Amino acid sequence: MRDCFEVRDGDVGGRIGQLTVPRAGVTVETPALLPVVNPNLQTISPARLESEFGAEILITNSYIIRQTERLHERALDVGLHEMLDFSGAIMTDSGSFQLAEYGEIEVTTEEIIQFQLDIGSDIGTPVDIPTPPDVSREQAEGDLEVTQEALADAEAIDTGDMLVNAPVQGSTYPDLREEAGRHAATTDLDVFPVGAVVPLMNAYRYDDMVDVVAGAKRGLGADCPVHLFGAGHPMMFALAVAMGCDLFDSAAYALYARDGRYLTVQSTEHLEELDYFPCSCPVCAEHTPEDVRGFDEETTERLLAEHNLHVTFEEIRRIKQAIRAGNLLELVETRARGHPAMLDGYRALLEHADQLEREDRVSKGSFFYLSNESARRPEVLRHHERLDRLSISGDVLLTQGGTPKEHDYDAVWRVVPPFGPFPRALSETYPLTAEVPERIDTDAYLAAADGVARLVDANPDVTFTFAHDDWPDGALAALPDSVELDDLTSAGHADADSDTDADESDEVSETGVENV
Ligand SMILES: [Zn+2]
Repeated sequence: MRDCFEVRDGDVGGRIGQLTVPRAGVTVETPALLPVVNPNLQTISPARLESEFGAEILITNSYIIRQTERLHERALDVGLHEMLDFSGAIMTDSGSFQLAEYGEIEVTTEEIIQFQLDIGSDIGTPVDIPTPPDVSREQAEGDLEVTQEALADAEAIDTGDMLVNAPVQGSTYPDLREEAGRHAATTDLDVFPVGAVVPLMNAYRYDDMVDVVAGAKRGLGADCPVHLFGAGHPMMFALAVAMGCDLFDSAAYALYARDGRYLTVQSTEHLEELDYFPCSCPVCAEHTPEDVRGFDEETTERLLAEHNLHVTFEEIRRIKQAIRAGNLLELVETRARGHPAMLDGYRALLEHADQLEREDRVSKGSFFYLSNESARRPEVLRHHERLDRLSISGDVLLTQGGTPKEHDYDAVWRVVPPFGPFPRALSETYPLTAEVPERIDTDAYLAAADGVARLVDANPDVTFTFAHDDWPDGALAALPDSVELDDLTSAGHADADSDTDADESDEVSETGVENV
């Protein structure tokens, strides 16, 4: 475990953690949002960010401060905290963004880390190379070497109490991201920004973003605090947290406001086109869109920025509560319905279900089956893996109905889509207590059929009969040929049509189950 970061609670890959920032003397609860403060232009003052919005940490750019004479002198003179009037933690960026934008900058890692130390930054950053998406592998590898040299340069400096970022690059090559993550985790640096994802988000490539983060996370491991660098739109926070990101920074709240844009948790709206505000923050409660349009330009921009920030912090709190309640994936699934690109992001996340399953907690409050994507959640995968380890013997009835009053089976198991079969003794354990709609979709049937197939494969000497509730042909076809089928909806099943067996006395002992 890294000294500065402690995970307190988790759901899927998401976690509530504590980032201890010794130089600031504060502990920041994650997931956390770092508002980006432009030292030249403060739409909302850092003091207000702290007192009105609850910001515990912010990020500003040490390169801009260093290159601007007035700011440079003042920062050295009074320190960043007094200059910005902010008592929480302050992270500083290094100028890497300017390097990516303009091709060169006038500072080395040694110089900028020393400057960040001198002005009182709490978390500094070396000069890494933010390699854009889709470059040649050769370029991505070459840039990564330079970034790794920058990390070594930063590591060689005595930074005292200041934490230091170790950016993880690698463009859109998940294996390079993984390698970069593994390398970064071996340094004694502290916080791990996944860099250069902004072009992916600007292009709505949330699926590629998920693959990039998944690669970095595989390399970094579970104990590293991860910052999704440049990610400020609240619509993707739940998705990114579920992948294991802990820190976000938002310049979006101010940049979008400057452009007349109003953020929601599922979209970006134009103030010009709004007749009503779908929000109850102080700005939206006190004004109509028409009011806000009627102010002078500066006031309109400030009010929009305030709303954007309220909705952004609100989403972070909602995500934390979802982690506590154990229903983060339900939130991700809801957000995925806001935009087709978000749905792609969620589907990409489910392709990493095996990776997420390793960190996910075993028991939570609820599993709501909300769409066909739910059939691919890590909990379903985990149940299927468990079926490989459950050994049974003799003749086994798998049924969607109740236990028949008279029978000769050695064991009777329930079948519930999307999980498939399980011994009745597990009926009240997570996730088999899932709420599933009455009108089951194909993916849930297919996932259940997959569960049956795994149980059959793991127990080749057992004879299985499956009493199903009018399954569609496609799902029945996915079952192994050796399974006897019995349709509960056909005549002669009056005694076995009840599935409300929570308190039903089991007439069959569970002794057939040797390894639950
Ligand atoms: Zn609002």
